[in-house]
Amino acid sequence: MLELDSQVIDRLKVPKRTLECNFPIRMDDGSVRNFTGYRVQHNSVRGPFKGGIRYHPGVTLDEVKALSIWMTWKCAVVGVPFGGAKGGVICDPKALSLGELERLTRRFTSEIVPIIGPDVDIPAPDIGTNAQVMAWIMDTYWALTGDCSLAVVTGKPLEIGGSLVREEATSRGIMDVISAAFQERRMDINGARVAIQGFGNVGYNAARLLYQEMGCKIIALSDSSGGISSPDGLDPLKVYDHKRRTGSVQGFEGAQDISNEELLEMDCELLVPAALEDAITSRIAENVKARMVVEGANGPTTPEADEILFQRNIPLLPDILANAGGVTVSYFEWTQGLQRLFWTKEEVRSQLKEKMTVAYERVSAMAEKEKVNMRTAANLLALHDVVKAMDIRGLFP
Ligand code: NAD
Repeated sequence: MLELDSQVIDRLKVPKRTLECNFPIRMDDGSVRNFTGYRVQHNSVRGPFKGGIRYHPGVTLDEVKALSIWMTWKCAVVGVPFGGAKGGVICDPKALSLGELERLTRRFTSEIVPIIGPDVDIPAPDIGTNAQVMAWIMDTYWALTGDCSLAVVTGKPLEIGGSLVREEATSRGIMDVISAAFQERRMDINGARVAIQGFGNVGYNAARLLYQEMGCKIIALSDSSGGISSPDGLDPLKVYDHKRRTGSVQGFEGAQDISNEELLEMDCELLVPAALEDAITSRIAENVKARMVVEGANGPTTPEADEILFQRNIPLLPDILANAGGVTVSYFEWTQGLQRLFWTKEEVRSQLKEKMTVAYERVSAMAEKEKVNMRTAANLLALHDVVKAMDIRGLFP
């Protein structure tokens, strides 16, 4: 649709730089184990590389490459001045002791230090990593380089330069785009019935914010063990408490146990898949009864299901728009770190709302203009902005 030159497409199809490292870690029992890690930098024409580090047994180089490309588009859609990157270590963090996790993190950091830095490539948490892991990365970076920058990682603890609102940033961004979409359609968000798949960082916080701040009725929730529903509405804080005590959302008093598939097909105003990729298959898409789908997770809808939802006139707010609140507040954390000047909760919230609302309006206008679904519109906008930046910068040498 953008009629791009094939040389441009060839350039964007592959990452600019890929680092693979193999390194030994002494385990608690005295043995030594080798681990493999990656840092992939896709494109930096709009700014330094930015992207999370994933610790998971299933990490592969191809997955990390794909996720790095995804980050390039996500940063462009919300207009934050970063390019895409991603990292990963093949490991099961749940099977490592705290000491092993720290040694693995510090050694992996030493391997990637030559290519990261506050003005070069800024890691963040992803699946299997958290604020503590970011603190170890920052500490190792300072020790090895002598550069005491607060902006070398984002998603770090508040005590060492993290940003307020970071914990709920992705979910708050989801709430902001939903609010913009409802406003555009003159739909009332207050009392809207919502079903959310996944009850982790994104799913739980989305449920809580939509319930507390928007007055939505949360009629279904789920996690990996299954779901629950109640036509009268669920209080996400009470469900959180129940899950903390029992390990699952199922069995919540006053609610009916349902399957994840039943949740995805519930009659509601809003369906938010916030767990895994490929949750909405074409078979499920035929039966979706929600008035709108908002992708909290990355890639929860298969390409075939995407087309079916479009044909059925069910608007879908795509992942690179809907869940970009996380990287947006990462950008705020980075700028606060560079300036050593910290914002209030209200400032972070209002700047996030502004960015998410503008991004939604741009994507929606593009969808309308080109008569395409919002995923295609978001991709068009992102590609356009990246290619424009490539054009302006020209070629070296
Ligand atoms: P998380 O690990 O905190 O939570 C994941 C949730 O999904 C858990 O409640 C888990 O029980 C549930 N789950 C796992 N398998 C399931 C299944 N088969 N059926 C139903 N539920 C299942 O992860 P998260 O940080 O909330 O991330 C969720 C998704 O959002 C991922 O796709 C992630 O890449 C994406 N995302 C997260 C962020 C962020 O800031 N955390 C930002 C952008 C995108």
